[in-house]
Amino acid sequence: MARFIFITGGVVSSLGKGLASAALGSLLQARGFSVRLRKLDPYLNVDPGTMSPFEHGEVFVTDDGAETDLDLGHYERFTGVPARMSDSVSSGRIYSDVLEKERRGDYLGKTIQVVPHVTNQIKEFISIGEDEVDFMLCEIGGTVGDIEGLPFFEAIRQFSHDQPRGQCIFMHLTLLPYLSASGELKTKPTQHSVKELQSIGIAPDILVCRSEQPIPEKEREKIALFCNVRKEAVVAAYDLKSIYEAPLAYHREGLDQAVLDAFAISPAPRPDLTIWQDVYDRIHNTDGEVNIAIVGKYIQLEDAYKSIKEALTHGGMANRVKVNVEWVDAEIFDREDPAPHLEGFHAILVPGGFGERGTEGKIRAAEFARTRKIPYLGICLGMQMAVIEAARNVAGLKDAGSEEFDHEAGEKRFTPVVYHLKEWVQGNRKVKRKVSDDKGGTMRLGAYDATLKDGSRVAQIYGTTGIDERHRHRYEVDTTYREQLEKCGLTFSGMSPDGRLPEIVEWADHPWFIGVQFHPELKSKPFAPHPLFADFVRAALDNSRLV
Ligand code: GLN
Repeated sequence: MARFIFITGGVVSSLGKGLASAALGSLLQARGFSVRLRKLDPYLNVDPGTMSPFEHGEVFVTDDGAETDLDLGHYERFTGVPARMSDSVSSGRIYSDVLEKERRGDYLGKTIQVVPHVTNQIKEFISIGEDEVDFMLCEIGGTVGDIEGLPFFEAIRQFSHDQPRGQCIFMHLTLLPYLSASGELKTKPTQHSVKELQSIGIAPDILVCRSEQPIPEKEREKIALFCNVRKEAVVAAYDLKSIYEAPLAYHREGLDQAVLDAFAISPAPRPDLTIWQDVYDRIHNTDGEVNIAIVGKYIQLEDAYKSIKEALTHGGMANRVKVNVEWVDAEIFDREDPAPHLEGFHAILVPGGFGERGTEGKIRAAEFARTRKIPYLGICLGMQMAVIEAARNVAGLKDAGSEEFDHEAGEKRFTPVVYHLKEWVQGNRKVKRKVSDDKGGTMRLGAYDATLKDGSRVAQIYGTTGIDERHRHRYEVDTTYREQLEKCGLTFSGMSPDGRLPEIVEWADHPWFIGVQFHPELKSKPFAPHPLFADFVRAALDNSRLV
């Protein structure tokens, strides 16, 4: 049975709980343990699938097709453990499951209450697959004291109470603000936050304190005394140049040792940190840099393209170069010539997106990359826009477009070279959809296989002709125009195994122009950069040497 580590946060949000959890997961792995990480989010959406990327950042998709919180991306990038549907839950999901059971009559006429019905549902979720790993790390979203988080805090309190002694620990993240006027780190907010936790019956075993300044010994002692935590379990978390330094930094500060001590695991297995040392080396010892433009719509919030940004960083690590990413608003090119905005970039990436706004700009960015022979990576919508560009400007289908935009506008304006996919095969079953279906969870989601064309650039990059990648889309490139487009030089170099759905297109006579219907960024890791991103950055580097 797994040992459980519950991770909570206090004082302020955005302290980096997800990162701390992920880094701790990787450190436990480095000591030879198996781990799984889980996120429990107090908001009422059933999942983040329908939340705007402006509000919530990227939606991270798992192999089994769940649309989850972006923290699951951190978990995967640090531990390499593929996240599952059962690793992410929200109040919305919990309540909707409880209410469904109530409607079915499963509760046999009982009055349904937060305690025990909602808390039991949460506890059930926490323990899914508990036999599979040594450590289960469960992060609670939000901060202690939030109204909507209360059932989760109550559930983890009960859960640890239900378990044998020593099976669960609590780790709490706080902030030590620095007052420059008095030159002091203040511990009071941390004390208050721990009091708040204690008032709901949770006594933290470990405190991770975010701080801009080194924590003096005296302050550490004070925190330990007032918060009832061992001094060695007050762990400092300083700002880092790169998030990938976190495992080494937390190890240096004694986090993994404190966790093992809290579980009384002795002697502690020695950690093997080789992969993180290599990662560190690749970040700090670079030779050269490349400038890459991401032409997107949700550029006000960088988290909207979190995994893409990280995958580009990994691509840089693979080539030992620094990747400078610049966000370019696609809508500018709806009105203006992209050339002055995009000249000077060594490569262009057009990411995924929904809705028509900004798409004409993305089409022009694809045209610019194609005609100027600049490396281009189109992801999902970015691939669809590249195909529309090819159809309009090379194959002569002047009014080529996507059905997505016609649906949005409520009128037919385009020849749909990208159409609404209503039926496809998943494993051995057929999936069917209607235009009027609910928005939540109804896309082609999760891992699907693709077959790559022998001798294509992508087959070369992947080093194989059989791949599987994660999807999240409703619309699909229409094979009706395949022959016409291939005659013009746009190769359909990856297809679904049944040959019906285009997965990858590439321009044959271009140094590097690839569009993919899936999201390769979701599977890239610092210690295993995704081949497409590694090669894209290499192509950008080659291009930088030309100019
Ligand atoms: N909006 C497009 C679709 O649904 C692309 C989705 C995406 O980029 N993730 O097919």
